[in-house]
Amino acid sequence: PPDQLDADPTKPTLVVLGSGWGATSFLKSLDTDDFNVVVISPRNYFLFTPLLPSVTVGTLEPRSIIQPTRYITRHKKRKVSVYEAEAKEVDPTKKTVTFQDISDVKGAATDVTINYDYLVYAVGCENQTFGIKGVNEHACFLKELGDADKVRQKIMDCIETAAFKGQSEEEIDRLMHMVVVGGGPTGVEYAGELHDFLIDDLKKWYPEVADRLRITLIEALPNVLPAFSKQLIQYTESTFKENRIDVLTRTMVKDVKEKAVVVQDANKEIREIPYGLLVWATGNTSRQITRDLMGKLTQVQTQRRGLLVDDYLSLLGADGVYAVGDCTATSYAPTAQVASQQGIYLASVFHKLGQKAKLEQQLTQLRAQPSADPAEIEATVKKLNRAAKLTPFHYSHQGSLAYIGSEKAIADLPLFNGNVASGGGAAMLFWRSAYVSTLYSVRNRTMVLADWAKVRIFGRDVSRE
Ligand code: FAD
Ligand code: NAD
Repeated sequence: PPDQLDADPTKPTLVVLGSGWGATSFLKSLDTDDFNVVVISPRNYFLFTPLLPSVTVGTLEPRSIIQPTRYITRHKKRKVSVYEAEAKEVDPTKKTVTFQDISDVKGAATDVTINYDYLVYAVGCENQTFGIKGVNEHACFLKELGDADKVRQKIMDCIETAAFKGQSEEEIDRLMHMVVVGGGPTGVEYAGELHDFLIDDLKKWYPEVADRLRITLIEALPNVLPAFSKQLIQYTESTFKENRIDVLTRTMVKDVKEKAVVVQDANKEIREIPYGLLVWATGNTSRQITRDLMGKLTQVQTQRRGLLVDDYLSLLGADGVYAVGDCTATSYAPTAQVASQQGIYLASVFHKLGQKAKLEQQLTQLRAQPSADPAEIEATVKKLNRAAKLTPFHYSHQGSLAYIGSEKAIADLPLFNGNVASGGGAAMLFWRSAYVSTLYSVRNRTMVLADWAKVRIFGRDVSRE
């Protein structure tokens, strides 16, 4: 039985795994009237990932871009149980989820298994390393809030160590070399933020070493931002050139050592590039729990890239399981836009499921009454048929936006049937207003606006916690 306070035994149990873009937009739109809802995620908050690169250099403070999951669930009509825990196993045959408290502080209960009637699977992805040696040990990632904090600490450590009395010239060059691997939007936006930090703040605070800072972006393909249009790629690459960000394309990282990356260039030549800070942004791969779930459904789950779902986001091969976001393998890119639209769509599917269950119950009761009005039965059947009819998920692309540093942003907007690449105040304003308007709450908006104002007035804080 569902281990849940206030659970109504007449209602089905809906378990939601995750608190990211997919799960949060689902929860926000979900009508909890018809289900006992349980949310399980190792993170007790939602993270606004598009602004994460800004946290790495202190343009934004970490807490400005997160919102507790309970902020959403506590306003729901019926109680929603939220557990800070990591789902360890999904059994699609027994319809159970096993989850574990993985935090530092533990009580008597650490491992729990619950039954579900419906499961919304939205656990996202983990960082792709392609099994390259040394990545996990020596590189920083840029996916979670803790990653951005780690990057911020490491940058300052490199700079302070470079400025240390008697530091050798060779070590200063290494420590002040910030290398980013992966020229997708994450790598590009991070390189842009780092450049701003150098120009706006480092020159003021660390004049003795600031000029030695170098940023290198390494990309295996012939250009950065492969998913953007040619014009926007050129604009980004020329902006990076102006900003003295070295872009090494057709260059593949083969090995990561403690102080240098080993790369192979277009001529198949192997060389070492020394670094102080290494940020690894080469995309996504499935989490272990997702691979385990695929392993239980091998007949139909045949894509290593992610889970296969039908047009209604129902997981192939499993009854009552739905999947959204980065953990799925669909024709859409793994983006926040897709995950949040899928979450909203899925909430509408559950609304219909709730209606359908109610109508089925009504119909059973009506049919059991000898004096029931046949017209009423017929009307209920019609309503039931309507509730049972679902329209497939349809993605509406609102455009792609990326900040590339020095107050320049690029935008791929379907509205203008083309691309807008622009710099200066207008682009910056557009980028900022687009993100501020999609932030989760008034609290987040206020905090982000205040952080931007603080940085403009006082500059970024270079102290190390
Ligand atoms: P996530 O948002 O990653 O959420 C997954 C959730 O599952 C998390 O809460 C996690 O804690 C939880 N979880 C993990 N393991 C378990 C488990 N075992 N059990 C239970 N829960 C679990 N996209 C855009 O469209 N525009 C952008 O500008 C943009 N910028 C980005 C910038 C950065 C730096 C990054 C990293 C990504 C960016 N993206 C952007 C991509 C976007 O963030 C993802 O596509 C989106 O987060 C996917 O949503 P999701 O819900 O599938 O996964
Ligand atoms: P990505 O998959 O988009 O890009 C990773 C890049 O790393 C690729 O270009 C790949 O060729 C390169 N690469 C892989 N292995 C390499 C190696 N060994 N050496 C050198 N280069 C290597 O990853 P991402 O940038 O993290 O983005 C992930 C998803 O999140 C995408 O769907 C993206 O659209 C989305 N996102 C969007 C935005 C935005 O819209 N502003 C920002 C960040 C992320």
